[in-house]
Amino acid sequence: MGTIVENLQRVKQRMEAAALRVGRAPEEISLVAVTKTVPIPRIREAIDAGITLFGENRVQEAREKVALLGRSRIRWHLIGHLQRNKVKYVFDLFDLIHSVDSLALAQEINKQGSKRNQVMPIFLQVNVAGEATKFGVSPEEALPLLKEMARLPYVAVRGLMTIPPLAEDAEASRPYFRELRLLRDEIAKVGIEGISLAELSMGMSNDYEVAIEEGATFVRIGSALFGPRST
Ligand SMILES: *Cc1c(COP(=O)(O)O)cnc(C)c1O
Repeated sequence: MGTIVENLQRVKQRMEAAALRVGRAPEEISLVAVTKTVPIPRIREAIDAGITLFGENRVQEAREKVALLGRSRIRWHLIGHLQRNKVKYVFDLFDLIHSVDSLALAQEINKQGSKRNQVMPIFLQVNVAGEATKFGVSPEEALPLLKEMARLPYVAVRGLMTIPPLAEDAEASRPYFRELRLLRDEIAKVGIEGISLAELSMGMSNDYEVAIEEGATFVRIGSALFGPRST
């Protein structure tokens, strides 16, 4: 593991190379630097290195970090499971939620948004592999759910997100990434008024290049930037 500057440079080079391999423009793809368990001084280093978009998976941890680092020079995305009783905090913390996994949760976000007259952009999390241990809706549920979510004025659907089964080999993730993209294409063809499915949030430290080859527009990268997590 090098310094954050070196790690960032390497990750960005690989992102760009993956995009160019499949004829995509590298600018289409955003890097979310995942800072769960990463201490504040390391995040400050990342900000100094030029990173402007961070991802946290827990609301409580994000509250502490956003209180210290703010939201003016940098943006924060929620990438982990959101409990309904924490929704009241999300508008003060996050610019986008990657991990909406039920209609009830979207309705609660809508309710909080209406109180503030603020719209929250979200991705629907899809459990492509059907793993019992993972959050996310089944591919079959996605279309009817998105139709319901399209009716919520303070929730703006922007895309889909997935987390494939843990695997050593990045190629093992490819079928799941591809399935998310095909699901997106299928739903986009039906066309749901009031939503966009332009974004695909997929790919982490071990498989982001494959995810980009399969159409990712957001990759969520932690350990390849900050080193292995201790917890
Ligand atoms: C932790 C986490 C990541 C980043 O994982 P790395 O393997 O460290 O890159 C990405 N997405 C989600 C949802 C996570 O919880």
